[in-house]
Amino acid sequence: MKSSKEIIDIIKSTIHYQGNDNVAIHEPFFVGTNAHEYIKDCLDTGWVSSSGKWVSKFEKLISEYTGCKYSIAVSNGTVALRLALFLVGVRANHEVLIPPLTFVATANAVSHLGASPHFIDIDSDSLGMSPTALEKRLNEVAILKNGKVFNKFTENQISAVLPVHVFGLPAKIQEIKKICDKWKLPLIEDAAEALGSIIQTTKSSIHCGCVGDIGTLSFNGNKIITTGGGGALLTNNKKFASLAKHLSTTAKVNHPWNFHHDQIGWNDRLPNINAALGVSQIEILRQNLNKKRILHKKFFKAFQSFEDIEIIEEPKNTKSNYWLITMRIKGRNPELFKERILNDSHNSNIFLRPSWKLLNELPMYKKSSTGDLSEAKNQSKRLINLPSSPQLLIN
Ligand SMILES: *Cc1c(COP(=O)(O)O)cnc(C)c1O
Repeated sequence: MKSSKEIIDIIKSTIHYQGNDNVAIHEPFFVGTNAHEYIKDCLDTGWVSSSGKWVSKFEKLISEYTGCKYSIAVSNGTVALRLALFLVGVRANHEVLIPPLTFVATANAVSHLGASPHFIDIDSDSLGMSPTALEKRLNEVAILKNGKVFNKFTENQISAVLPVHVFGLPAKIQEIKKICDKWKLPLIEDAAEALGSIIQTTKSSIHCGCVGDIGTLSFNGNKIITTGGGGALLTNNKKFASLAKHLSTTAKVNHPWNFHHDQIGWNDRLPNINAALGVSQIEILRQNLNKKRILHKKFFKAFQSFEDIEIIEEPKNTKSNYWLITMRIKGRNPELFKERILNDSHNSNIFLRPSWKLLNELPMYKKSSTGDLSEAKNQSKRLINLPSSPQLLIN
């Protein structure tokens, strides 16, 4: 067994690292980009707020990049999820099937609509929702009444399935879609971490977030590209796209001066100034993705000979954006070793992070329904995210 000190030394020698650097997990990057010029345009023209040319430009670029017909920019990824769930019919007292190994926002967005998360186990290779566990859980708890799915134990309606592409690793979304189709359940993909991640099929390849009814992205500061704060909905469904735009713009009916709102909407639009930053970031996306792939390969090689450590690779027939490069501790009792690695890394200002605490263990979600979560429990003891910023690649 290697010592945690050896592991930290290998990390330091794999990334661009000088003496007393603080190294975070994922940092934004603006050097040499058009960010200043585009933001200056907003300041010079006064178009800083919720409409303007940069918003539509940004949306067009996201659609082109992902191949998803419509993209609607909003103020963050949590709001994108909440809006997506609302659009497919999630309402108060419903249940939404989600994995427990994800950022808390996935469950919070469900709760913001008065619904509850219902946790489904994950796969060890994709770290995303397991189609087998989903099918098993639906067979255990679900019954159909008037074409709707209900949880026969809680008597709540189950109104959506919400898998997550964790750390940029594509989940088994096509198998999940088949199960959703069988039960006629809407499918929302939380692709907050997966801009640039792709699923390859026999015929073509499809971007994460474009398989389900709606996908969502986040452009928070730590994500693969950033707008400061921001998010987007992706969909091929015209009706969802126009409703998303309408509901995120206070449900205002278009008119040169009249204030007519035809339902209760939200103020969720992405400001122009943030979209301007986003355009400058999309321009460097491909370049960043290439750098992150190389960085992943370097980590993979550096740890290849370690018996008790593994660098997670993209699942078969997928391409990960490697948003967070992830180390898995193998063997029987990973907890102590993991704590030691985290401790030593923080002492040397390499701020490694464990994967999130499982959401069903947080105080507000302790009482939520769950299927058997043994794989999620097993994985969450072992995962550590490595420094993954593209600028850490040694040129
Ligand atoms: C970041 C993230 C979100 C939320 O995005 P914000 O822009 O921070 O609101 C949702 N889900 C996952 C999996 C995320 O990583």
